[in-house]
Amino acid sequence: MSREISIQIASAGEAALVGQIAPQLRWMLAATAAQRQPQAIASEIGDALAYAVDPQTSRLDPSLGWSLAPDQEFKPSYRELFGMYLRDLDAPNPAVDWVPATSQERRTYSDNTLEFADRQLERKRNPDLELFGIESLPGVAGQLRPERFLTPYRLIRTQADVQLQQELWADSRTTYRGRPVDRVIAVHPRMLAHLANLQGLRRAAPGRLWLTIPDFRVHVRHHRGHTVAHWAHRIGRALSADGELGLLGCGFELMTLLGRHSAALSFGPHIADSRAMKTRGGPTPPFGYVPRVHDWVAFDKAHDVVAHLSTGRDVRRVYCPDPVCISQFEAVGPARFADAMFGMARRGRVWFPSVPARRAQREHALRARLRELALLELSPRDLIRTIENDAAASPFSVAALRLAGWVMILRADEHLAA
Ligand SMILES: [Zn+2]
Repeated sequence: MSREISIQIASAGEAALVGQIAPQLRWMLAATAAQRQPQAIASEIGDALAYAVDPQTSRLDPSLGWSLAPDQEFKPSYRELFGMYLRDLDAPNPAVDWVPATSQERRTYSDNTLEFADRQLERKRNPDLELFGIESLPGVAGQLRPERFLTPYRLIRTQADVQLQQELWADSRTTYRGRPVDRVIAVHPRMLAHLANLQGLRRAAPGRLWLTIPDFRVHVRHHRGHTVAHWAHRIGRALSADGELGLLGCGFELMTLLGRHSAALSFGPHIADSRAMKTRGGPTPPFGYVPRVHDWVAFDKAHDVVAHLSTGRDVRRVYCPDPVCISQFEAVGPARFADAMFGMARRGRVWFPSVPARRAQREHALRARLRELALLELSPRDLIRTIENDAAASPFSVAALRLAGWVMILRADEHLAA
């Protein structure tokens, strides 16, 4: 199956890096980024780059904690975004989970998000273009239009949310200015086992349906993670049976579980921040991505291991199979390579990646993410064997154990599915 692969863009900085390293990829542009930095992002969009905008409407629900500042007001960028989404509707009240009440309200709300996705980059760019007298260049405006749209979605945590989401789908257009409007379903991991009537859900969302499961990785790695994975697999299979399934915000676990059922997939570049995990007490080291275990490892541990490797082959086996990393290692030697990748500076009680290490990590993590896509080409059996070998060969014992645990879940799930 040929798949549409998009990379999620959450800032102009990410856009620039992705444009440099993976210019061939589609973008799934975060609405917050389009809202905050329209000009910078518009200028990163090259010729005919295909993109869509993730409307991020689930963040309208303040109880999810994404959109509120410490003073319990909406953060300014969200306030402006929601202001555009809720034009001609009630203004959002930070204390309340806003829900459109009538069919007319749902249509207005949906149309506002479509309008935002369609025009946000262009709207802010036009004055620049006019300044240089090039606003009339043929095709310029067209290049800044998304190729498709995503409907507003809320995070499904109760049966009532399922009902609300279906009503929103029903009152949203299926095409907008000649381009498809895809449906999105965002399911909380704990709700996966309770989604009833998947066929009905699929019928209510014709065309491409994007599935997103926030914090899937965290939940499958807790006890009873196998049940979460099992239900996700059932849902993915059911939703992909009668139409295209897209995976929105797809991490390594969801990709290895459901990737082969998907027609489209969007994934984060791993470059937003290397401080992926927080530990309690004591200085927190930054974490870097170790592609061999598909996981994050603390800088100090990674430095210890990598500084003691001797050949490029060791780097491939233990740390990263990317030729760029291997040739850098061979060029500068183990100690300098480890310093460049995992150098740290301390401010107060907090350790930060050094400036060169931050840059090196961002590029390495993005390349690693792209290489992981090759796993989608493997059969389920080869995929499991490959990951199993990666786990067995790794000196990063905690991450390797976690990966081995995930392999066991995949294997059990494969049995159940067969
Ligand atoms: Zn690498």
